[in-house]
Amino acid sequence: MVSLYEVSPRDGLQNEAAVVPTEAKAELIGKLVAAGVRDIEVTSFVRARWIPQLSDAVELVAMLPKVEGVRYWGLVPNRVGLERALESGVRHVATFLSASETHNKKNVNRTLRESLAGIEEVIAVARDEGMVVRGYISTVFGCPYEGDVPVENTLRIAERLLAAGASRIALGDTTGMANPRQVREVLQRLFAAGIGPERVALHMHDTRGTALANVLAGYELGVRQFDGSVGGMGGCPYAPGASGNAASEDMVYTLEAMGVPTGVDLERLADAGLFAESVVGRELPGRYHQYWRGACARSVSARTA
Ligand code: ZN
Repeated sequence: MVSLYEVSPRDGLQNEAAVVPTEAKAELIGKLVAAGVRDIEVTSFVRARWIPQLSDAVELVAMLPKVEGVRYWGLVPNRVGLERALESGVRHVATFLSASETHNKKNVNRTLRESLAGIEEVIAVARDEGMVVRGYISTVFGCPYEGDVPVENTLRIAERLLAAGASRIALGDTTGMANPRQVREVLQRLFAAGIGPERVALHMHDTRGTALANVLAGYELGVRQFDGSVGGMGGCPYAPGASGNAASEDMVYTLEAMGVPTGVDLERLADAGLFAESVVGRELPGRYHQYWRGACARSVSARTA
């Protein structure tokens, strides 16, 4: 069994140029739930002026259907974000920092040391409140500023986040630089240090077309949670057509075809992808998504012919 951790409402929308109405986000999330997705990162509790696309975080969470077994996650950058997350009622939060000093500084304007200390405090407070915490480490597989990122950085940060009380570490290929050999090397280093596959998720971006290959490399080493975005939503608002997160449909299709259950209904997920496309107003890049769009168009024209 593999679990899909769906990030389209947060990582996807935050990197789309369109500002999507709250009702449409809630509808997308409802479709993901109906497809069987159980972990959905629905928003980010950052300051509204940083990411206007996600400024409706508290209102959105209030609109979401309460469904047994469904976990809505909110991204929190700091203590202020955590307070807003608590106020919204989410019980699952994800926090983040980068494995690369330069990327971290550019992203959150803090040194790694400052970020780690801040995040340890966020995790401690969240755990005191009974929340479950996921720790993202971004740019694990390469940094746009520094190039190679030492695996020792990732290991040191992962150990600190887990020790602070994070339940799982998500290894982020933020700019889509990873390859399968590197995924194996990083995972094996973590496993050798006692961080088992059940404490790890992979968060791949398909910027250079390697996301699915990287996911499969992780699967073969025992990782069982993967982040994805319907239709491959995301990318970069300044680069039209750029690929975003690993496309959820591509992962579900491939794993199910290999006989690995995901708990997700592929047709319903693919329909959610079509809805997502209509919401962001651009053609999304996921491969299964494109196949599905074509198949649906053909069945409509067959019906109307
Ligand atoms: Zn991402």
